[in-house]
Amino acid sequence: MSVTIKSLREIELMREAGKLLGKAHDELGKAIRPGMSTKEVDRIGEEIIRSYGCIPSFLNYNGFPASICVSVNEEVVHGIPSKHRILQDGDIVSLDAGLIYKGYHSDAARTVAVGEISDDAKKLIEVTKQCFFEGIKFAKEGNHLNDISTAIGEYARSFGYGVVEELVGHGIGTELHEDPQIPNFPMKRKGIKLQAGMTLAIEPMINMGTCKVEWLDDGWTVVSKDRSLSAHYENTILITKDGCEILSLTEE
Ligand code: MG
Repeated sequence: MSVTIKSLREIELMREAGKLLGKAHDELGKAIRPGMSTKEVDRIGEEIIRSYGCIPSFLNYNGFPASICVSVNEEVVHGIPSKHRILQDGDIVSLDAGLIYKGYHSDAARTVAVGEISDDAKKLIEVTKQCFFEGIKFAKEGNHLNDISTAIGEYARSFGYGVVEELVGHGIGTELHEDPQIPNFPMKRKGIKLQAGMTLAIEPMINMGTCKVEWLDDGWTVVSKDRSLSAHYENTILITKDGCEILSLTEE
């Protein structure tokens, strides 16, 4: 599949899909508290998305059994919500969600604190978020994909963190995952040249320890190999002539 360039009409729909997802994250993030099961988090998230008249795109995607990926502490991504997994004070939880609005996808993730968390955990969350903002400084027509990847990876590594390499960002549009793949670390190749009208999901996944990850026996949950804390931050963006527009982030 080649990289799609969205028309003005499609961009309008992507903007709306992104805006609604940003709002959903704001609402869901505020609902998180110690004592909740990750299943409850999923239920609330799905309800919010459906209340906007949208479809949760992760539900049944390649067989994923929930609407929200809820990944706790050392879990990097794709955590399967469970009524047996109870959020504890001091945990960090990564919430990854996607929705479909009139046939167009948005995808975004936030890592949030459960109750009071350690300063180290706060720093990991902040740096991971900043990795996204460092990356998108280069998200502009005429630049190359690797400019974004390099900025993300170098920023994370400057803190001694592990940059997950086995999972990457992606193009997005009428499909959840479109070309190109967008690594969060410097590549040898420049990658494709960015063009206005491309819509991309940029999503640094950063571990406090090793960059290595492994998959749990459930076939979905990705954890850091050394079980160190992991954070995730993602937005859907639109490449423009002179920069980018973050589609899935509200004023909050
Ligand atoms: Mg994504």
